[in-house]
Amino acid sequence: MSIKINQVVIIGSGTMGSGIAAQLCNANIPVTLLDLKTEISERARERIYKSRPPLLIDKKKINNIKVGNINDNLDILKDADWIVEAVVERIDIKHDIYNKIFKNRKQGAIVSSNTSSIPIKVLSQKLTSEEKKDFCITHFFNPVRYMGLLEIVKNENNDLNKINSLKKFCEIELGKGAIVCNDTPGFLGNRIGVYAMQVAMTEAFKMKLSIEEADAVFGRPMGIPKTGVFGLYDLIGIDLMSDVLKSFVKELSENDEFQVVAKEIPLVSKLINDGYTGRKGKGGFYRMNKENNKKILEAINLETGKYSPSKKIDLGIETIDINGLINRKDKYGEYSWRVISKIIKYASSLVPGITDKFNDIDEAMRLGFNWTMGPFEMLKSIGVKTFFERIDNFKNNKFLENLSKSKDENFYGDRQLYTEIETLGKIRPKAIKKDKNKSAEIYRFEDFNIVEFTTKACALDYDSMDALKNATDKPLIIINEAMQFSAGVNLRYTMNFAEKGDFKSIEKFIKYFQETCKHLKYSKYPVISAPSGLALGGGFEVLCQSNFVVSHTNIVVGLVETIVGLIPAGGGCKEMLWRWAQSEEGKKDPDYAPLKVFDIIGYAKTATSPTEAEPLKYLKPEDKKIMSRNSLLSVSKKIIDQNRDFTIPKECFFNLTGKLVYEKMLKILEKLYDDKIILDHGMEVGKELATVLSGGDTKIDRTLTEDNLYKLELDAFMRLIETKKTQDRITHTLATGKPLIN
Ligand code: NAD
Repeated sequence: MSIKINQVVIIGSGTMGSGIAAQLCNANIPVTLLDLKTEISERARERIYKSRPPLLIDKKKINNIKVGNINDNLDILKDADWIVEAVVERIDIKHDIYNKIFKNRKQGAIVSSNTSSIPIKVLSQKLTSEEKKDFCITHFFNPVRYMGLLEIVKNENNDLNKINSLKKFCEIELGKGAIVCNDTPGFLGNRIGVYAMQVAMTEAFKMKLSIEEADAVFGRPMGIPKTGVFGLYDLIGIDLMSDVLKSFVKELSENDEFQVVAKEIPLVSKLINDGYTGRKGKGGFYRMNKENNKKILEAINLETGKYSPSKKIDLGIETIDINGLINRKDKYGEYSWRVISKIIKYASSLVPGITDKFNDIDEAMRLGFNWTMGPFEMLKSIGVKTFFERIDNFKNNKFLENLSKSKDENFYGDRQLYTEIETLGKIRPKAIKKDKNKSAEIYRFEDFNIVEFTTKACALDYDSMDALKNATDKPLIIINEAMQFSAGVNLRYTMNFAEKGDFKSIEKFIKYFQETCKHLKYSKYPVISAPSGLALGGGFEVLCQSNFVVSHTNIVVGLVETIVGLIPAGGGCKEMLWRWAQSEEGKKDPDYAPLKVFDIIGYAKTATSPTEAEPLKYLKPEDKKIMSRNSLLSVSKKIIDQNRDFTIPKECFFNLTGKLVYEKMLKILEKLYDDKIILDHGMEVGKELATVLSGGDTKIDRTLTEDNLYKLELDAFMRLIETKKTQDRITHTLATGKPLIN
């Protein structure tokens, strides 16, 4: 029986209850939050409204959430198609809640728990077999909007069709990677993820590494988020991690390898006792210290427990490189091998116990911990032969025993077996690799091309443009699986030229950037950008000069160049001017669009969802906006199918008032300067932006082409990049990640 979910009730409006409520609300599903008291749910609703990063894709949607309490408002349960329990992790409280739910629910409504550690057999102990049919675990990750993983745990009585249709609903409507797994402690994500953290931590203690060294290895080079292990500990909360470990120690058998790495560490207990519980406390392994009014990041010494200024560790590895890491002849090579091999050994020892599909473990690590590859993909990239030459023993590990016999280098097979959707991850191995440079890859699949940026944060450089330009001989989809679509032009790349005074090379790059974006817009075949995560600066310029956009709901878009003392010069000013000029007001008043865009780009406004992006015209009404990241590729493919007779768009022309509107912008700048909102260089950047958006030396009856605007952008950009103050801003932002106001 398939189900329709039109109404949801969530019991427990803490971190997880509110996160799940917000995501339902994003999907336009009415939801009621119940807690012990209505005030608690009301506060949760306020928290959702104010959350940063925002849990809502559109603040107006908050009205989809109603609140109440579990004593007076239980009658609401009879209208719900799905009831989610997200109260504290206490079995007595949960049992009591189920009793209330099953007495009041509508016959057949699904009931699920968000528990992270209580087995379903224990949760459902007191349920009748009829009730068990509709009961399961739906384990969401925090923050719910942004974390892709949802683990679903069944019981033996479940109506499988119902579970399947709940899974589909969560995939398509809520955009989650929903993986069905067995009823074992920590399911897939936490079992492997927490084990991995513990291995990384205990090995760092054993090898007497500094926490910065450990985080540098157990981070980007391994395809793991840059918080590493100690940074992640601080982020999650050292006290919370200690509770999680206690629960694993209690639930897992004595001879489980997890026990070896879950032992209490005196330094960790001391940190908790002293209130150093991580970022939410006084600090943790890292802490911010203030000296002479300057904030200094400090790191703890694992041997002495003393803090000293944190040191940046440069391993000289820019991208993920498992083999490069484990083959190093230094302590980092040794550490990475110990950690990686232990994780592979542990994960494989749990197949088929925690799941019969090892593939699901990898996908859970991608979705739940933002790893770029899971343990089995790491094994694949090390190579079966190499792995077995180096690994010591793997007794009682059926998976490795079999693999050591078959020696099958192609053991991996397809990816993302958990979903029926045709994803990028699934088609990549089947696609023809057409070209690859150090910043991007081009694939051919069926009758279209795919360009995937591959740099850190998918930052753009000459090579990224080369790949795009060379991929327009067929319909093109620009998409990737990284955290970001593209954080913009690679500032380090640009600064390297600036530091050498080689402005010619910068000019050449910007010209090529413009040429490529124009080429994307006017090539014979449709070009589709399918962003998720950041699409900023140059990343946004690629997106907005594509013919179609298929956007994930989790995006951050905007033109943010002014922050680093520059202006958008890849066509961003031009494209935004055009979009605003097409509005009703823009058609009536020639200064309307330039002033609007001056405001948007001048303030470097960003939008944190497609709904916020549309009023700024960063996205168009016809752009596709979808909750399920997995569907980006298939929706893009459909667009290609629907545009077999694609007609190249018409060129844009501009009639601008030049000096007249420039003067208006100057007035705005002068007021900001007088109010000390901008300083000297802010004024300079503002003037350059005004020059571009006013059309330069022009008049209303003179028609400007797109090329004229590209030229204005380029000239303004070049004047700015040559100034010391813009270079200071870039250097500062590269070093600190923060803006410099000068
Ligand atoms: P929380 O402490 O933030 O919130 C729990 C809420 O339950 C509180 O608002 C509390 O008032 C309410 N509550 C307690 N007893 C209640 C009762 N009898 N009736 C109604 N409401 C009651 O907890 P959380 O972090 O949101 O965790 C909720 C569940 O989700 C737990 O089972 C936890 O293991 C699981 N979980 C948590 C996370 C996480 O990162 N926090 C992640 C995944 C799963």
